[in-house]
Amino acid sequence: MLPPDLPRPVCAYLYDTATLRARAASVRQAIPAGSSLLYAVKANGHPAVLEVLAAACDGLEVASGGELALARAAGARRIVFGGPGKTDAELRAALAAGVLINAESVHELRRIAALSPAAVPEVVLRVNRPGGGLRGSHTMTGTPTPFGVDEAQLAEALAVPGVRIIGFHLHAVSNNMDGHAHAAFVRDAIAWSLAQGLDDLRVINVGGGFGVDYLSSASMDLSPLRGITVPGGVDLIFEPGRYLAADAGTYAAEVLDLKTTHGRTFAVLRGGTHHFRLPAAWGYSHPFTILPVDDWPHPYPRPQVTDTEVDAVGELCTPRDVLTRGRHVTRLRAGDVLLFARTGAYGWDISHHEFLRHDPPAFVIT
Ligand SMILES: *Cc1c(COP(=O)(O)O)cnc(C)c1O
Repeated sequence: MLPPDLPRPVCAYLYDTATLRARAASVRQAIPAGSSLLYAVKANGHPAVLEVLAAACDGLEVASGGELALARAAGARRIVFGGPGKTDAELRAALAAGVLINAESVHELRRIAALSPAAVPEVVLRVNRPGGGLRGSHTMTGTPTPFGVDEAQLAEALAVPGVRIIGFHLHAVSNNMDGHAHAAFVRDAIAWSLAQGLDDLRVINVGGGFGVDYLSSASMDLSPLRGITVPGGVDLIFEPGRYLAADAGTYAAEVLDLKTTHGRTFAVLRGGTHHFRLPAAWGYSHPFTILPVDDWPHPYPRPQVTDTEVDAVGELCTPRDVLTRGRHVTRLRAGDVLLFARTGAYGWDISHHEFLRHDPPAFVIT
């Protein structure tokens, strides 16, 4: 499982490109014929991941100038650019690259128009619709958020001169586990978009949000999406991040120390939430499996626990550096390696790497 030349103590992200391709193929198969699949770069922007997904999907969705540069370097055939706080420099770069911009406010539409006086750029308007009825870990519409324009501002947005609105962006949720609810959301998004009376409706972007259950091996059932009808002349865009990348990553961290204080047992790892912040950010315990390492070349006794519950904690000097609480192990020793599966999305990319200045993990691409 681990490459033999990995430096010890083990601390690595293992990214598996075959899994990325398999996930992309399964999404492609599940979404309706005639729709487009983009990968949301923010889930994992590692260049090797982007190169694989730029080829396996129709293109990439980016949310900053930095991601735009990565997406172009990865050879993406198509790029769309969203995000609530775009600078003029980022907008200019997107316009120059012919990237489709998802505009997030009336003010932004005016800025885009002013940045391209010689042309009328085509843009997609992100709308924060009331309702939507989707449940997930982050709800972005139907509730006050910085994303998109309120439906009440639609007429004002459509009247901004110097830009041409060719569709709507309606990304609504993150980590939704209910495939039937997701299909209903997409159908509703299509019906709503058709009802807005746009002269030239060519794009309906329904965003990402396909869920992954970290406590089991389950993912959102994509099969209800297949029956959705794509209106003629419309590019229906799906842009998942988590679903494509999560399963392609494993975070491996060696147990440096084992100790019991005040009745709780801690496995202290070479690594932690500065590499994989998601469990701390969301407040859950990420499961692990143990890779036993029998080799113990040291003259002193090997710390070991059997048949007990352990907390898997990191190397940071804060009690919040916890990846997993209270997981039962039959045996765990210093020098064994914990493997955290499904860490390919929102893992390294959302973590506070510089805190305490430990060495970064190795990145192993297979
Ligand atoms: C984050 C994001 C995505 C991807 O979301 P996932 O939950 O990872 O699928 C897609 N589109 C937009 C606009 C986003 O902000």
